[in-house]
Amino acid sequence: MVRKMSRQRHESVVLKRSDHRISRKDIDPDALKVLYRLYRKGHTAYLVGGAVRDLLLGRKPKDFDVVTDARPGQIKKLFANCFLIGRRFRLAHIRFRGGKIIEVATFRREPEEGSDALPEGNNTFGTPREDAFRRDLTINALFYDISNFTLIDYVGGLDDLEHRRVCIIGEPETRYREDPVRIWRVIRHAGRQGFTIEERTADAIDSCRELLATCSGARLFEELNKDLTSGYTADIFSLGLRFRILHAILGGVGEHLERSPRDGEQCLKLLGFLDAAVRNGHAPPSQEFMFSLLFFPWAHNLFQAREQQNGDRIQLLTEAILASGMTITLPKALRSQVIQTLFILEHMLAAARTGRMRWALKKRGRYQDASRLFALVVMGQWSEKHDPFEAYFREIFKTDAGKKRRRRVSRYSRSGKKGSTPPTP
Ligand code: ATP
Ligand code: MG
Repeated sequence: MVRKMSRQRHESVVLKRSDHRISRKDIDPDALKVLYRLYRKGHTAYLVGGAVRDLLLGRKPKDFDVVTDARPGQIKKLFANCFLIGRRFRLAHIRFRGGKIIEVATFRREPEEGSDALPEGNNTFGTPREDAFRRDLTINALFYDISNFTLIDYVGGLDDLEHRRVCIIGEPETRYREDPVRIWRVIRHAGRQGFTIEERTADAIDSCRELLATCSGARLFEELNKDLTSGYTADIFSLGLRFRILHAILGGVGEHLERSPRDGEQCLKLLGFLDAAVRNGHAPPSQEFMFSLLFFPWAHNLFQAREQQNGDRIQLLTEAILASGMTITLPKALRSQVIQTLFILEHMLAAARTGRMRWALKKRGRYQDASRLFALVVMGQWSEKHDPFEAYFREIFKTDAGKKRRRRVSRYSRSGKKGSTPPTP
């Protein structure tokens, strides 16, 4: 309670240039251009959000967001390359070469309850202070003022950055109820930065986690994609498991990971390989690969529990995914690719035990992904080999079995006999 009062009434702090580490040379030149143009035309212009946080942490920001007192129409007049987006709250996207976008928002306040009825384009503009307080986390609400290079902190973000903790702005339960995705954002930022979660921010998750299941599936899918390519997925999911939010996002898949410590651990281990690859600068794996990796421990457990005939596995997996009650909306094409990959991988795992492989599967589009996943699951390594499964198979069986089988399978299919290829989902 004491903490809550002090947060709400937090004295604003202004750090002058000599007292902080943000230098203009670390700011994207196009973001600087936008900030300066706004400023020279008489507007307040701040860098805000993740960019300020990351620069203070000595990290390279992913994107640079700007906030200003200029209204959307005024912003549009200042930049020829400006596009206004959003219906309820209009934002300006200033486009630059190479697809870069600098997002410029006008200071706004949290819309009041029941304001859904506001007519389109009716923005709830606010002051810089109100804009800081409507943001999610204290460390995400710091402003860098281009007019004098000061840092402005209305919410206690500098203190939290220094103490390496994530703290939601305002009363946690209210803020989670307003937008349950904030629960995930708390977990993401704590996982990504290796920060602790402030006590009240953490405690309120208990009474609000189920609200995540009411969020838009498309939005949650986007959020999950961000995490999978972040290089910190294992840290984020480890907290996700600890705070038991995964079932509210991934339905039965998340529930299984929360309930089975062995599969939960395996999932974290696999995500750790993915993170290491991303951080070591490997080409980012496809979305199909990342989701197959995420679902593997659950799917493998399902196959083991049901010991189905080969032909039924795809149907089994399809039905199980559909029945899992996931909140995220998994696009249909992605779902079917993931199912194919997991199906082939399951064959590989069986083949590694029995020495019998259906090499006709090599013709399947997802074979390569399954082979690379096999390397992670069985060998515990991110393999750059063309076909790590086949290399492994030949090595342990010390035979030319692969080739022989491949010949046999192709003769088999040439004979036109049905059933030589498993069904597609
Ligand atoms: P990242 O490095 O992932 O881009 P970020 O903090 O910049 O981190 P964004 O999703 O780009 O995250 O959002 C930009 C800013 O918008 C945040 O820093 C935060 O101030 C604000 N914001 C984003 N989502 C919310 C939300 N759900 N509620 C309130 N404020 C939000
Ligand atoms: Mg951002």
